[in-house]
Amino acid sequence: MTAPKPFTELTVTATERLTDGMVRVRFAAVDPAAFAEAFGGSRFTDRYVKLVFEGADGHRALRTYTALEPDVDAGTLAIDFVVHGAGDEGLAGPWALAARPGDRITVRGPGGAYAPNAAADWHLLAGDEAGLPAIRAALAALPADARGYAVVEVRDASHEQPLPAPAGVAVSWVHGGTTTHEAMADASGQEPSLLRAVRDLPWLPGRVHAFVHGEAQVVMHALRPYLLREREVPRADLSISGYWRRGRTEEAFREWKAQLAAVETA
Ligand SMILES: Cc1cc2nc3c(=O)[nH]c(=O)nc-3n(C[C@H](O)[C@H](O)[C@H](O)COP(=O)(O)OP(=O)(O)OC[C@H]3O[C@@H](n4cnc5c(N)ncnc54)[C@H](O)[C@@H]3O)c2cc1C
Repeated sequence: MTAPKPFTELTVTATERLTDGMVRVRFAAVDPAAFAEAFGGSRFTDRYVKLVFEGADGHRALRTYTALEPDVDAGTLAIDFVVHGAGDEGLAGPWALAARPGDRITVRGPGGAYAPNAAADWHLLAGDEAGLPAIRAALAALPADARGYAVVEVRDASHEQPLPAPAGVAVSWVHGGTTTHEAMADASGQEPSLLRAVRDLPWLPGRVHAFVHGEAQVVMHALRPYLLREREVPRADLSISGYWRRGRTEEAFREWKAQLAAVETA
């Protein structure tokens, strides 16, 4: 049995609007020793925390976010929040937009499962804006001689961000928003733009280590079959999951994931 993840209280120290669609919030731990204990052992670049939102009725809602640049000595981290919809949808997006220095929030974690494998010949990092922070962290952890691709889907060119990468890792941006699997079926075979962009990449020789995270339908129903079946990427070399699902809150999305897992293991 794994130990329950610790709770850590954070204070907002700064906010920065990266684009119209993304806000970076910087935090400092209220108790740096507790923070160091929680974050000290984490070696994953996709490490994430669960933000805890307490409803007026005592109901607790959790929202999952990538913890960027956790600094164990300083007791600090940053989170890049997608501002989705008109900025007023959901809990976490609007909270981040309104966050001001001094605000407090409790987080649980970190969790995580991926770090770029040094034994791979090349790396494929693909995702949408929700996956971008984890892609940013993976790129920062790659050695200077790493090779591969980072492909990020954003709504349009105004949502692109500076994204430092090793010289051998080509960064490309895909525009137009996520096309869902349902929309894809309706549009008689039109592929999601992220899949099309990944499919168009010249496939490199050797062993790939792939990290693919974003809207669940696109990632699990379009990119996953492409990578596993068409490209025959071994499961162990593919980190892939939905980070959110169109039309569902995180709670409703978790139910969908549980159903999908039950079907797949049946
Ligand atoms: C491991 C992991 C790491 C993640 N890291 C990040 C991160 O670093 N930054 C980040 O922004 N997100 C990240 N996400 C995704 C984030 O948890 C979800 O987007 C979450 O649903 C946002 O919560 P909310 O309260 O704003 O919206 P919710 O209340 O969950 O949803 C309200 C509505 O908004 C829609 N919605 C939710 N997210 C998006 C989106 N990204 N784009 C468009 N519509 C959306 C939903 O479909 C729903 O209709 C991560 C998810 C996972 C599992």
